[in-house]
Amino acid sequence: NPPSTEVLIIGGGFSGLAAAKKLHENHISFLLLEARDRLGGRVYTRQFEGFYLDLGGQWIGPTQDRMYALCKEYGMEYFETYNQGKNILDLAQRIKTYRGVIPKLGLFALVQLAWVMRKIQKMADSVSLEAPWIHPKSKEWDSLTLEDFLIQNCTHSQTRQVFQVGCETIFACQLKEISLLHALFYIRSGTSLDCLINIKDGAQQHRVKGGMQTLAEKIAERFAKQIRFNYPVSRIQKTNSGYLVSGDGFELDCKQIILAVPPPLLSNIQFSPRLSFEKSELLKNYPMGRVGKCFMIYDRPFWRAMGFSGQALSDESTPFQTFFDCSPADASRGIIMGFTIGGRADSFFALGKKERKEKLEAVLIRYFGEKAKKSIQYEDFTMTDESWSQGCYAGLMPKGAWTAWQDAYRKSEGNIHFAGTEAAERWHGYIEGAVISGEAAAEKCLMEVQTNNP
Ligand code: FAD
Repeated sequence: NPPSTEVLIIGGGFSGLAAAKKLHENHISFLLLEARDRLGGRVYTRQFEGFYLDLGGQWIGPTQDRMYALCKEYGMEYFETYNQGKNILDLAQRIKTYRGVIPKLGLFALVQLAWVMRKIQKMADSVSLEAPWIHPKSKEWDSLTLEDFLIQNCTHSQTRQVFQVGCETIFACQLKEISLLHALFYIRSGTSLDCLINIKDGAQQHRVKGGMQTLAEKIAERFAKQIRFNYPVSRIQKTNSGYLVSGDGFELDCKQIILAVPPPLLSNIQFSPRLSFEKSELLKNYPMGRVGKCFMIYDRPFWRAMGFSGQALSDESTPFQTFFDCSPADASRGIIMGFTIGGRADSFFALGKKERKEKLEAVLIRYFGEKAKKSIQYEDFTMTDESWSQGCYAGLMPKGAWTAWQDAYRKSEGNIHFAGTEAAERWHGYIEGAVISGEAAAEKCLMEVQTNNP
Protein backbone atom coordinates (compact mmCIF):
# COMPACT_ATOMS: atom_id res chain seq x y z
CA ASN A 1 0.00 0.00 0.00
CA PRO A 2 1.23 3.55 -0.70
CA PRO A 3 2.18 5.64 2.37
CA SER A 4 -0.88 7.26 3.93
CA THR A 5 -1.52 10.54 5.72
CA GLU A 6 -4.61 12.51 6.78
CA VAL A 7 -3.96 15.52 4.51
CA LEU A 8 -1.85 16.07 1.41
CA ILE A 9 -1.14 19.73 0.72
CA ILE A 10 -0.23 20.41 -2.89
CA GLY A 11 1.78 23.61 -3.39
CA GLY A 12 4.43 25.22 -1.19
CA GLY A 13 3.56 28.87 -1.73
CA PHE A 14 2.31 30.99 1.16
CA SER A 15 -1.13 29.38 0.92
CA GLY A 16 0.12 25.80 1.21
CA LEU A 17 2.51 26.84 3.97
CA ALA A 18 -0.22 28.61 5.95
CA ALA A 19 -2.35 25.46 5.69
CA ALA A 20 0.59 23.30 6.78
CA LYS A 21 1.31 25.59 9.74
CA LYS A 22 -2.26 25.26 10.97
CA LEU A 23 -2.37 21.48 10.57
CA HIS A 24 1.01 21.19 12.30
CA GLU A 25 -0.23 23.27 15.24
CA ASN A 26 -3.27 21.02 15.50
CA HIS A 27 -1.24 17.78 15.33
CA ILE A 28 -2.87 16.55 12.11
CA SER A 29 -0.70 14.30 9.97
CA PHE A 30 0.13 15.83 6.59
CA LEU A 31 2.68 16.02 3.81
CA LEU A 32 3.29 19.06 1.62
CA LEU A 33 4.16 18.29 -2.01
CA GLU A 34 5.93 21.01 -3.97
CA ALA A 35 6.72 20.75 -7.68
CA ARG A 36 9.73 23.05 -7.56
CA ASP A 37 12.95 22.65 -5.61
CA ARG A 38 12.13 25.71 -3.50
CA LEU A 39 9.36 27.16 -1.37
CA GLY A 40 7.49 30.41 -1.93
CA GLY A 41 5.89 29.89 -5.36
CA ARG A 42 5.04 33.35 -6.65
CA VAL A 43 7.22 34.74 -3.86
CA TYR A 44 10.82 34.30 -4.96
CA THR A 45 13.87 35.99 -3.48
CA ARG A 46 17.11 35.53 -5.40
CA GLN A 47 20.44 36.20 -3.69
CA PHE A 48 23.25 38.01 -5.53
CA GLU A 49 26.67 39.07 -4.35
CA GLY A 50 26.00 41.76 -1.76
CA PHE A 51 22.25 42.11 -2.33
CA TYR A 52 19.00 40.26 -2.95
CA LEU A 53 16.05 40.82 -5.25
CA ASP A 54 12.42 39.96 -4.64
CA LEU A 55 11.46 38.70 -8.09
CA GLY A 56 7.89 37.89 -7.05
CA GLY A 57 5.64 39.27 -4.30
CA GLN A 58 7.37 41.59 -1.86
CA TRP A 59 5.17 44.34 -0.35
CA ILE A 60 2.81 44.20 2.58
CA GLY A 61 0.60 46.94 3.95
CA PRO A 62 -2.07 47.89 6.49
CA THR A 63 -4.98 45.49 7.08
CA GLN A 64 -2.82 42.57 5.93
CA ASP A 65 -2.94 41.44 9.54
CA ARG A 66 -1.80 37.88 8.97
CA MET A 67 1.38 38.99 7.22
CA TYR A 68 2.32 41.31 10.08
CA ALA A 69 1.46 38.57 12.59
CA LEU A 70 3.69 36.10 10.71
CA CYS A 71 6.56 38.63 10.63
CA LYS A 72 6.21 39.04 14.39
CA GLU A 73 5.97 35.31 15.12
CA TYR A 74 9.08 34.49 13.06
CA GLY A 75 11.10 37.54 14.11
CA MET A 76 11.19 39.01 10.61
CA GLU A 77 11.84 42.74 10.48
CA TYR A 78 10.19 44.91 7.87
CA PHE A 79 10.90 48.44 6.70
CA GLU A 80 9.17 51.35 5.01
CA THR A 81 9.27 51.49 1.21
CA TYR A 82 11.24 54.63 0.27
CA ASN A 83 8.62 57.28 -0.45
CA GLN A 84 10.16 60.73 -0.23
CA GLY A 85 10.79 63.37 -2.85
CA LYS A 86 9.52 63.94 -6.37
CA ASN A 87 7.73 61.32 -8.46
CA ILE A 88 7.95 61.33 -12.25
CA LEU A 89 5.08 61.45 -14.72
CA ASP A 90 6.15 60.56 -18.28
CA LEU A 91 3.27 61.37 -20.63
CA ALA A 92 3.31 62.34 -24.32
CA GLN A 93 7.12 62.68 -24.37
CA ARG A 94 7.03 65.21 -21.53
CA ILE A 95 8.49 64.54 -18.10
CA LYS A 96 6.83 66.25 -15.17
CA THR A 97 7.45 65.81 -11.47
CA TYR A 98 4.93 65.76 -8.66
CA ARG A 99 4.75 65.01 -4.97
CA GLY A 100 2.24 62.80 -3.17
CA VAL A 101 -0.09 60.40 -4.95
CA ILE A 102 -1.91 62.61 -7.46
CA PRO A 103 0.05 63.26 -10.66
CA LYS A 104 0.34 66.76 -12.10
CA LEU A 105 -2.32 66.78 -14.83
CA GLY A 106 -4.28 69.57 -16.48
CA LEU A 107 -7.21 70.80 -14.40
CA PHE A 108 -9.91 69.03 -16.41
CA ALA A 109 -7.98 65.74 -16.45
CA LEU A 110 -7.36 66.01 -12.72
CA VAL A 111 -11.00 66.65 -11.89
CA GLN A 112 -12.05 63.77 -14.13
CA LEU A 113 -9.50 61.44 -12.53
CA ALA A 114 -10.81 62.24 -9.05
CA TRP A 115 -14.38 61.72 -10.27
CA VAL A 116 -13.60 58.37 -11.96
CA MET A 117 -11.75 57.10 -8.93
CA ARG A 118 -14.66 58.04 -6.67
CA LYS A 119 -17.10 56.40 -9.06
CA ILE A 120 -15.28 53.08 -9.31
CA GLN A 121 -14.73 53.05 -5.54
CA LYS A 122 -18.44 53.54 -4.91
CA MET A 123 -19.24 50.69 -7.29
CA ALA A 124 -16.63 48.45 -5.64
CA ASP A 125 -17.99 49.23 -2.17
CA SER A 126 -21.36 47.85 -3.25
CA VAL A 127 -19.98 44.44 -4.34
CA SER A 128 -20.14 41.53 -1.91
CA LEU A 129 -16.86 39.70 -1.36
CA GLU A 130 -18.69 36.49 -0.54
CA ALA A 131 -20.91 36.57 -3.60
CA PRO A 132 -20.07 39.23 -6.22
CA TRP A 133 -22.66 37.67 -8.54
CA ILE A 134 -25.66 38.65 -6.36
CA HIS A 135 -25.27 42.39 -7.03
CA PRO A 136 -28.30 43.80 -8.93
CA LYS A 137 -25.91 45.05 -11.62
CA SER A 138 -23.64 41.99 -11.61
CA LYS A 139 -24.73 40.79 -15.07
CA GLU A 140 -24.16 44.22 -16.61
CA TRP A 141 -20.78 44.71 -14.90
CA ASP A 142 -19.67 41.17 -15.73
CA SER A 143 -20.54 41.72 -19.40
CA LEU A 144 -18.06 44.61 -19.52
CA THR A 145 -14.31 44.70 -19.18
CA LEU A 146 -12.35 47.20 -17.12
CA GLU A 147 -11.31 48.71 -20.45
CA ASP A 148 -14.98 49.32 -21.33
CA PHE A 149 -15.33 51.23 -18.06
CA LEU A 150 -12.23 53.25 -18.90
CA ILE A 151 -13.50 54.13 -22.38
CA GLN A 152 -16.93 55.11 -21.07
CA ASN A 153 -15.66 57.24 -18.21
CA CYS A 154 -12.21 58.62 -19.00
CA THR A 155 -12.81 60.96 -21.93
CA HIS A 156 -9.69 63.04 -21.34
CA SER A 157 -6.55 61.43 -22.73
CA GLN A 158 -4.43 62.22 -19.66
CA THR A 159 -7.05 60.78 -17.32
CA ARG A 160 -7.23 57.69 -19.49
CA GLN A 161 -3.48 57.18 -19.54
CA VAL A 162 -2.99 57.63 -15.80
CA PHE A 163 -5.99 55.47 -14.88
CA GLN A 164 -4.87 52.79 -17.33
CA VAL A 165 -1.29 52.64 -16.10
CA GLY A 166 -2.47 52.62 -12.46
CA CYS A 167 -4.92 49.78 -13.09
CA GLU A 168 -2.45 47.78 -15.19
CA THR A 169 0.00 47.97 -12.28
CA ILE A 170 -2.67 46.80 -9.82
CA PHE A 171 -4.00 43.92 -11.94
CA ALA A 172 -0.90 43.00 -14.00
CA CYS A 173 -2.82 42.68 -17.25
CA GLN A 174 -4.36 44.63 -20.11
CA LEU A 175 -7.66 46.08 -18.99
CA LYS A 176 -9.57 44.29 -21.75
CA GLU A 177 -8.59 40.98 -20.16
CA ILE A 178 -10.64 41.35 -16.97
CA SER A 179 -14.29 41.63 -16.16
CA LEU A 180 -15.35 44.93 -14.62
CA LEU A 181 -17.10 42.93 -11.91
CA HIS A 182 -13.83 41.16 -11.10
CA ALA A 183 -12.00 44.49 -10.93
CA LEU A 184 -14.62 45.82 -8.51
CA PHE A 185 -14.41 42.66 -6.39
CA TYR A 186 -10.60 42.91 -6.37
CA ILE A 187 -10.64 46.57 -5.30
CA ARG A 188 -13.04 45.85 -2.43
CA SER A 189 -11.06 42.74 -1.51
CA GLY A 190 -7.94 44.88 -1.07
CA THR A 191 -9.89 47.53 0.92
CA SER A 192 -9.95 50.38 -1.63
CA LEU A 193 -8.36 51.65 -4.82
CA ASP A 194 -6.33 54.13 -2.76
CA CYS A 195 -5.04 51.30 -0.61
CA LEU A 196 -4.03 49.26 -3.67
CA ILE A 197 -2.24 52.19 -5.29
CA ASN A 198 -0.52 53.80 -2.34
CA ILE A 199 2.75 53.23 -0.61
CA LYS A 200 1.92 55.14 2.59
CA ASP A 201 -1.10 53.49 4.22
CA GLY A 202 -1.32 51.24 1.17
CA ALA A 203 -0.43 47.78 -0.11
CA GLN A 204 3.16 48.86 -0.92
CA GLN A 205 3.99 50.26 2.54
CA HIS A 206 6.50 47.70 3.83
CA ARG A 207 9.06 45.18 2.66
CA VAL A 208 10.48 42.30 4.63
CA LYS A 209 14.18 42.59 5.42
CA GLY A 210 16.16 39.90 3.62
CA GLY A 211 13.32 39.19 1.17
CA MET A 212 9.83 37.70 1.35
CA GLN A 213 10.90 34.14 0.56
CA THR A 214 12.92 34.14 3.80
CA LEU A 215 9.62 34.33 5.66
CA ALA A 216 8.28 31.32 3.71
CA GLU A 217 11.38 29.34 4.65
CA LYS A 218 11.09 30.29 8.32
CA ILE A 219 7.45 29.18 8.41
CA ALA A 220 8.47 25.81 6.95
CA GLU A 221 11.28 25.13 9.45
CA ARG A 222 8.95 23.63 12.08
CA PHE A 223 7.62 20.98 9.69
CA ALA A 224 10.54 20.69 7.26
CA LYS A 225 10.48 16.87 7.39
CA GLN A 226 6.93 16.88 6.04
CA ILE A 227 7.85 18.69 2.83
CA ARG A 228 8.71 16.92 -0.42
CA PHE A 229 10.41 18.95 -3.15
CA ASN A 230 10.34 18.09 -6.86
CA TYR A 231 7.00 16.34 -6.32
CA PRO A 232 4.70 17.63 -9.08
CA VAL A 233 1.27 16.08 -8.67
CA SER A 234 -0.30 15.03 -11.96
CA ARG A 235 -3.21 12.80 -10.90
CA ILE A 236 -5.78 12.67 -8.11
CA GLN A 237 -7.96 9.61 -7.90
CA LYS A 238 -10.82 8.98 -5.49
CA THR A 239 -10.55 5.67 -3.62
CA ASN A 240 -12.79 3.86 -1.13
CA SER A 241 -10.91 5.35 1.82
CA GLY A 242 -9.90 8.76 0.44
CA TYR A 243 -7.63 9.77 -2.43
CA LEU A 244 -4.64 8.40 -4.28
CA VAL A 245 -2.35 11.25 -5.29
CA SER A 246 0.36 10.51 -7.82
CA GLY A 247 3.08 11.99 -9.96
CA ASP A 248 6.18 10.85 -11.74
CA GLY A 249 7.52 8.03 -9.53
CA PHE A 250 5.31 8.48 -6.47
CA GLU A 251 1.90 7.46 -5.14
CA LEU A 252 0.49 8.64 -1.83
CA ASP A 253 -2.74 7.92 0.00
CA CYS A 254 -4.65 10.49 2.01
CA LYS A 255 -8.09 11.24 3.37
CA GLN A 256 -8.16 14.95 2.45
CA ILE A 257 -6.40 17.22 0.00
CA ILE A 258 -5.59 20.92 0.02
CA LEU A 259 -4.84 22.20 -3.47
CA ALA A 260 -2.91 25.45 -3.20
CA VAL A 261 -1.76 25.98 -6.79
CA PRO A 262 -2.56 28.72 -9.35
CA PRO A 263 -5.64 28.09 -11.58
CA PRO A 264 -3.81 27.02 -14.78
CA LEU A 265 -1.84 24.44 -12.79
CA LEU A 266 -5.05 23.05 -11.38
CA SER A 267 -6.31 22.31 -14.86
CA ASN A 268 -3.10 20.38 -15.58
CA ILE A 269 -3.97 17.81 -12.94
CA GLN A 270 -6.02 14.81 -14.02
CA PHE A 271 -8.92 14.17 -11.63
CA SER A 272 -10.80 10.91 -11.40
CA PRO A 273 -13.73 11.33 -11.19
CA ARG A 274 -13.64 14.66 -13.00
CA LEU A 275 -14.07 17.95 -11.16
CA SER A 276 -17.56 19.45 -11.20
CA PHE A 277 -18.83 20.81 -14.50
CA GLU A 278 -18.74 24.39 -13.12
CA LYS A 279 -15.15 24.21 -11.92
CA SER A 280 -13.97 22.46 -15.09
CA GLU A 281 -15.64 25.07 -17.30
CA LEU A 282 -14.21 27.95 -15.27
CA LEU A 283 -10.72 26.45 -15.47
CA LYS A 284 -10.93 26.38 -19.27
CA ASN A 285 -10.74 30.18 -19.27
CA TYR A 286 -9.03 31.43 -16.12
CA PRO A 287 -5.85 33.13 -17.35
CA MET A 288 -3.08 34.63 -15.24
CA GLY A 289 -1.78 38.19 -15.36
CA ARG A 290 1.58 38.95 -17.02
CA VAL A 291 4.21 41.12 -15.44
CA GLY A 292 7.97 41.39 -15.41
CA LYS A 293 10.16 43.04 -12.82
CA CYS A 294 13.21 44.78 -14.28
CA PHE A 295 15.94 45.91 -11.92
CA MET A 296 18.83 48.31 -12.44
CA ILE A 297 21.33 48.04 -9.60
CA TYR A 298 23.66 50.88 -8.57
CA ASP A 299 26.20 51.20 -5.77
CA ARG A 300 23.80 53.60 -4.01
CA PRO A 301 20.32 55.11 -4.57
CA PHE A 302 21.76 58.27 -6.18
CA TRP A 303 18.32 59.61 -7.20
CA ARG A 304 17.42 60.17 -3.53
CA ALA A 305 20.09 62.87 -3.16
CA MET A 306 18.68 64.51 -6.30
CA GLY A 307 15.30 64.79 -4.59
CA PHE A 308 13.59 61.92 -6.45
CA SER A 309 11.56 59.15 -4.84
CA GLY A 310 12.42 56.66 -7.59
CA GLN A 311 8.72 56.33 -8.41
CA ALA A 312 7.59 56.99 -11.96
CA LEU A 313 4.55 56.38 -14.15
CA SER A 314 4.92 56.15 -17.91
CA ASP A 315 2.70 55.95 -20.97
CA GLU A 316 3.40 53.48 -23.77
CA SER A 317 6.45 55.36 -24.99
CA THR A 318 8.47 53.15 -22.61
CA PRO A 319 8.17 49.40 -21.95
CA PHE A 320 7.45 50.11 -18.27
CA GLN A 321 4.20 51.21 -16.64
CA THR A 322 5.59 52.12 -13.21
CA PHE A 323 8.85 52.34 -11.27
CA PHE A 324 9.70 51.92 -7.59
CA ASP A 325 12.76 52.28 -5.39
CA CYS A 326 13.54 48.71 -4.31
CA SER A 327 16.84 49.40 -2.56
CA PRO A 328 17.61 47.38 0.58
CA ALA A 329 16.73 48.83 4.00
CA ASP A 330 20.29 50.05 4.62
CA ALA A 331 20.60 51.56 1.11
CA SER A 332 23.82 49.57 0.63
CA ARG A 333 22.75 49.34 -3.03
CA GLY A 334 20.51 51.55 -5.13
CA ILE A 335 17.88 49.47 -6.87
CA ILE A 336 15.22 50.83 -9.22
CA MET A 337 12.56 48.37 -10.36
CA GLY A 338 10.36 48.89 -13.42
CA PHE A 339 7.16 46.90 -13.92
CA THR A 340 6.47 45.83 -17.50
CA ILE A 341 2.93 44.52 -17.81
CA GLY A 342 0.55 42.92 -20.32
CA GLY A 343 1.32 43.77 -23.95
CA ARG A 344 4.35 45.83 -22.97
CA ALA A 345 5.78 42.78 -21.16
CA ASP A 346 5.14 40.55 -24.18
CA SER A 347 7.16 42.84 -26.47
CA PHE A 348 9.84 43.51 -23.88
CA PHE A 349 10.62 39.87 -23.11
CA ALA A 350 10.77 39.08 -26.83
CA LEU A 351 14.06 41.07 -26.79
CA GLY A 352 17.43 39.73 -25.69
CA LYS A 353 18.71 40.57 -22.19
CA LYS A 354 21.26 43.10 -23.49
CA GLU A 355 18.55 45.03 -25.33
CA ARG A 356 16.27 44.86 -22.32
CA LYS A 357 18.99 46.37 -20.16
CA GLU A 358 19.54 49.13 -22.75
CA LYS A 359 15.83 49.93 -22.82
CA LEU A 360 15.67 50.36 -19.04
CA GLU A 361 18.92 52.31 -18.94
CA ALA A 362 17.71 54.72 -21.63
CA VAL A 363 14.56 55.48 -19.63
CA LEU A 364 16.48 55.96 -16.38
CA ILE A 365 18.91 58.34 -18.10
CA ARG A 366 15.92 60.39 -19.28
CA TYR A 367 14.60 60.50 -15.74
CA PHE A 368 17.76 60.87 -13.64
CA GLY A 369 20.51 61.96 -16.02
CA GLU A 370 23.99 60.61 -16.74
CA LYS A 371 24.42 59.00 -13.30
CA ALA A 372 21.92 56.38 -14.42
CA LYS A 373 24.61 55.06 -16.82
CA LYS A 374 26.75 53.83 -13.93
CA SER A 375 24.81 50.71 -13.02
CA ILE A 376 26.63 47.71 -11.60
CA GLN A 377 24.14 45.08 -12.71
CA TYR A 378 20.87 44.51 -14.54
CA GLU A 379 18.39 41.71 -13.76
CA ASP A 380 14.86 40.96 -14.83
CA PHE A 381 12.35 38.20 -14.32
CA THR A 382 8.86 37.14 -15.30
CA MET A 383 6.84 34.20 -14.00
CA THR A 384 4.90 33.99 -17.27
CA ASP A 385 7.29 31.37 -18.63
CA GLU A 386 7.66 29.46 -15.36
CA SER A 387 5.91 26.08 -15.66
CA TRP A 388 4.74 26.11 -12.04
CA SER A 389 3.28 29.64 -12.05
CA GLN A 390 2.36 30.41 -15.68
CA GLY A 391 1.88 34.09 -14.90
CA CYS A 392 1.23 36.54 -12.11
CA TYR A 393 0.29 38.31 -9.94
CA ALA A 394 -2.82 36.14 -9.96
CA GLY A 395 -5.56 34.45 -11.96
CA LEU A 396 -7.98 36.90 -13.59
CA MET A 397 -11.71 36.33 -13.94
CA PRO A 398 -12.56 37.25 -17.54
CA LYS A 399 -15.91 38.68 -18.72
CA GLY A 400 -18.86 36.57 -17.64
CA ALA A 401 -16.95 34.22 -15.34
CA TRP A 402 -18.24 35.43 -11.96
CA THR A 403 -21.88 35.40 -12.98
CA ALA A 404 -21.65 32.07 -14.83
CA TRP A 405 -19.57 30.08 -12.34
CA GLN A 406 -20.06 31.98 -9.07
CA ASP A 407 -18.19 30.28 -6.21
CA ALA A 408 -17.15 27.26 -8.29
CA TYR A 409 -13.43 27.97 -7.79
CA ARG A 410 -13.49 28.18 -3.99
CA LYS A 411 -15.89 25.29 -3.39
CA SER A 412 -14.57 22.03 -1.92
CA GLU A 413 -15.30 18.92 -3.93
CA GLY A 414 -15.64 15.97 -1.58
CA ASN A 415 -12.63 16.29 0.69
CA ILE A 416 -10.58 18.21 -1.85
CA HIS A 417 -10.29 21.78 -0.59
CA PHE A 418 -9.18 24.61 -2.85
CA ALA A 419 -6.81 27.23 -1.48
CA GLY A 420 -4.36 29.68 -3.10
CA THR A 421 -4.81 33.43 -3.30
CA GLU A 422 -7.48 32.99 -6.01
CA ALA A 423 -9.72 31.29 -3.44
CA ALA A 424 -9.54 34.24 -1.02
CA GLU A 425 -12.27 36.78 -0.46
CA ARG A 426 -10.03 39.27 1.37
CA TRP A 427 -6.78 40.39 -0.26
CA HIS A 428 -7.51 38.21 -3.29
CA GLY A 429 -4.39 38.15 -5.48
CA TYR A 430 -2.04 39.07 -2.65
CA ILE A 431 0.16 37.07 -0.27
CA GLU A 432 -2.24 37.90 2.56
CA GLY A 433 -5.05 36.34 0.51
CA ALA A 434 -2.92 33.23 -0.03
CA VAL A 435 -2.47 32.86 3.74
CA ILE A 436 -6.16 33.48 4.45
CA SER A 437 -7.26 30.81 1.96
CA GLY A 438 -4.65 28.32 3.21
CA GLU A 439 -5.83 28.73 6.78
CA ALA A 440 -9.47 28.39 5.72
CA ALA A 441 -8.73 25.14 3.86
CA ALA A 442 -6.87 23.75 6.89
CA GLU A 443 -9.86 24.70 9.03
CA LYS A 444 -12.10 22.58 6.77
CA CYS A 445 -9.71 19.63 7.22
CA LEU A 446 -9.82 20.05 11.00
CA MET A 447 -13.61 20.05 10.98
CA GLU A 448 -13.65 16.87 8.91
CA VAL A 449 -11.24 15.18 11.35
CA GLN A 450 -13.40 16.26 14.30
CA THR A 451 -16.55 14.98 12.60
CA ASN A 452 -14.96 11.58 12.06
CA ASN A 453 -13.41 11.42 15.57
CA PRO A 454 -15.97 13.12 17.81
P1 FAD B 1 1.84 30.21 -5.34
O1 FAD B 1 2.79 31.11 -4.66
O2 FAD B 1 1.79 30.25 -6.81
O3 FAD B 1 2.15 28.75 -4.83
C1 FAD B 1 1.72 27.61 -5.54
C2 FAD B 1 2.78 26.54 -5.43
O4 FAD B 1 2.28 25.36 -6.00
C3 FAD B 1 4.06 26.89 -6.17
O5 FAD B 1 5.15 26.77 -5.31
C4 FAD B 1 4.12 25.86 -7.31
O6 FAD B 1 5.43 25.49 -7.63
C5 FAD B 1 3.33 24.72 -6.71
N1 FAD B 1 2.69 23.84 -7.69
C6 FAD B 1 2.03 24.19 -8.81
N2 FAD B 1 1.52 23.10 -9.42
C7 FAD B 1 1.89 22.04 -8.67
C8 FAD B 1 1.67 20.63 -8.78
N3 FAD B 1 0.98 20.08 -9.79
N4 FAD B 1 2.18 19.81 -7.82
C9 FAD B 1 2.89 20.33 -6.78
N5 FAD B 1 3.12 21.66 -6.63
C10 FAD B 1 2.62 22.49 -7.56
N6 FAD B 1 1.47 39.98 -3.55
C11 FAD B 1 1.59 40.82 -2.50
O7 FAD B 1 0.91 40.65 -1.48
N7 FAD B 1 2.49 41.86 -2.55
C12 FAD B 1 3.27 42.10 -3.64
O8 FAD B 1 4.11 43.01 -3.64
C13 FAD B 1 3.11 41.27 -4.76
N8 FAD B 1 3.83 41.47 -5.89
C14 FAD B 1 3.91 40.50 -6.84
C15 FAD B 1 4.84 40.61 -7.86
C16 FAD B 1 5.04 39.58 -8.75
C17 FAD B 1 6.04 39.73 -9.84
C18 FAD B 1 4.30 38.37 -8.58
C19 FAD B 1 4.60 37.17 -9.40
C20 FAD B 1 3.33 38.26 -7.60
C21 FAD B 1 3.12 39.31 -6.71
N9 FAD B 1 2.19 39.25 -5.68
C22 FAD B 1 2.23 40.15 -4.65
C23 FAD B 1 1.21 38.14 -5.62
C24 FAD B 1 1.63 37.08 -4.61
O9 FAD B 1 2.96 36.74 -4.79
C25 FAD B 1 0.73 35.85 -4.77
O10 FAD B 1 -0.62 36.24 -4.63
C26 FAD B 1 0.98 34.77 -3.74
O11 FAD B 1 2.34 34.55 -3.54
C27 FAD B 1 0.28 33.48 -4.17
O12 FAD B 1 0.54 32.45 -3.25
P2 FAD B 1 -0.14 31.03 -3.41
O13 FAD B 1 0.38 30.18 -2.33
O14 FAD B 1 -1.59 31.20 -3.57
O15 FAD B 1 0.35 30.48 -4.83
